[in-house]
Amino acid sequence: MSSAVAPAFQPVLDQIAADIAARPGRGRPADYIPALAEADTSRFGMAVAEPDGTVYGVGDWRHPFSAQSITKAFTLALTLALEGEALWEHVGREPSGNPFNSLVQLEYENGIPRNPFINAGALVVTDRLHALTGDASGTLRAFLRAESGRQELDFDLAVAASEAAHGDRNAALAHFMASYGNIRTPVPELLEQYFRQCSLETSCADLALAGGFLARHGIRADGSSLLTRSQAKQVNAVMLTCGTYDAAGDFAYRVGLPGKSGVGGGIVAVVPGRCTLCVWSPGLDERGNSVAGVAALDRFTTLTGLSVF
Ligand code: GLN
Repeated sequence: MSSAVAPAFQPVLDQIAADIAARPGRGRPADYIPALAEADTSRFGMAVAEPDGTVYGVGDWRHPFSAQSITKAFTLALTLALEGEALWEHVGREPSGNPFNSLVQLEYENGIPRNPFINAGALVVTDRLHALTGDASGTLRAFLRAESGRQELDFDLAVAASEAAHGDRNAALAHFMASYGNIRTPVPELLEQYFRQCSLETSCADLALAGGFLARHGIRADGSSLLTRSQAKQVNAVMLTCGTYDAAGDFAYRVGLPGKSGVGGGIVAVVPGRCTLCVWSPGLDERGNSVAGVAALDRFTTLTGLSVF
């Protein structure tokens, strides 16, 4: 990993940070997870990683935050790499149009969640990764450490415990899918894995670098292959259509990139072949996406013209 004062991206990031600083109203932190409720909504950071690992940043781009649902893009990639197409027998890849923690649809769709990025789908993916590896959250942590180059990257077990103490809805989702035979891990063990996964403390720099394989068409930082080119396209496509839940249409309209948000206030976005971005600001809109984060990505694609469209 190298940091550099950038020829191309640094002025763009500086411009975006100035624009964001001038905007009042940044939404509210996720208060259904008490450990996240006190987050400072004035925080803002943004990083851009080029395919060669050069990373540029502005603001709080090295400050760790709770990755939360951003991890779902990584567990999807890791599971797809190990399991291939068979994964799609257990989880769909259509937008749900419902909030990330919704229970509706699951019953009349026989316990098969709409996509891997709503909580129900992510629980299925983590279940499969756990069966394949014996340690889903540890596998994910090892991957993020390797790709970011930051060996200290770790779980925040206080956040995981805080979420577990308020985890009735995720528990309900997991038990319901288990009743259809779509979850194999004992539910308490699966929830522990899932909450640990969500609690990973990562910075914008970490996640922009760790998502580099999505800009490199499936190739990891060390040059080895995680996904085929076609699989990398598939993950990016599901991020575009489902990565920001019931706001995915608006996100595609405003930003025009595959993206994955988390209720810690982070969003990862990908310009295939060109760069991976991560932006963080903890104030969320009512759909659970960072207000300043979406605005910053909107500015990025407007200023640079980089988009998949
Ligand atoms: N851990 C959170 C949950 O399960 C993740 C949600 C999110 O980031 N959208 O509710």
